[in-house]
Amino acid sequence: MYFDAHNHFQDDWLDPHRELLIEELRRAGIGGMVMNGTCEADWGKVAAIATRTPWIVPSFGLHPWDCGNRGPDWESRLVAALTATPRAAVGEIGIDRWILDRARPDDPRLAGLRRAPLDEQLTVFVRQLALARLLNRPASVHCLDAWGPLLDCLRATPLPSRGFLLHAYGGSAELIAAFADLGAYFSFNGSFLEERRTRNRDAFRHVPPDRLLVETDAPAMPLPPAWTRFSLPPTSSGDAVNHPGNLIGAYEGLAQLRGLPVDGLAELCARNYRRLFLGDA
Ligand SMILES: [Zn+2]
Repeated sequence: MYFDAHNHFQDDWLDPHRELLIEELRRAGIGGMVMNGTCEADWGKVAAIATRTPWIVPSFGLHPWDCGNRGPDWESRLVAALTATPRAAVGEIGIDRWILDRARPDDPRLAGLRRAPLDEQLTVFVRQLALARLLNRPASVHCLDAWGPLLDCLRATPLPSRGFLLHAYGGSAELIAAFADLGAYFSFNGSFLEERRTRNRDAFRHVPPDRLLVETDAPAMPLPPAWTRFSLPPTSSGDAVNHPGNLIGAYEGLAQLRGLPVDGLAELCARNYRRLFLGDA
């Protein structure tokens, strides 16, 4: 069984395909996935999909890209979503300096979003970590171009005792031990199998076996063609849609990088997934 530590199965891009995908993924051996909400507007959809699909773990959070557009009641709405679904995790939360320093002003993915300054992102992030701790939930963390500030913040903040995931870990291999000491798990997606991503591939080899996870981030982050096992038609605007079944290609490619048989990596990650997201001992 393969477990997907991080995706966005609620994404509108998957609306035409979702019902078929649910069957197809089970047949392909996908044992579970964490479906991450990113803003107040999608928490209801996340809850509805998870209610009728018990093998999916729902997760509610305010993503750093959406932080600047949050409503005045975001925190009470988040508490309500989390308490209504005791098995839900907290995420996707985090900090992102890329949107401030490197993203193009006309990047279509950021259209209509107010890009919150880092201090504001940190405040919202810390409040969500505090909720995860209070409600005893794991948290899924996004970080782009802000690994130093993230480490400083986590060292100064009471953290969820269940642990937390650094999804699509893009930090250096050198920082892994420091994050792991704080309770971090690390997930890698299939886009890291691209040859040019040598730094990410090197980091993947350094993660302790009991903290390793694999994800798709679907419908984002398509894999290189050699590792793509399933396909979906592109969106009407021509964007590539990553089929969540490509989790299997990600496991196959990443197992090679770790010098493990696929089954060995899958077994390891299944244990880690169950410990972090299902609360198994
Ligand atoms: Zn994500």
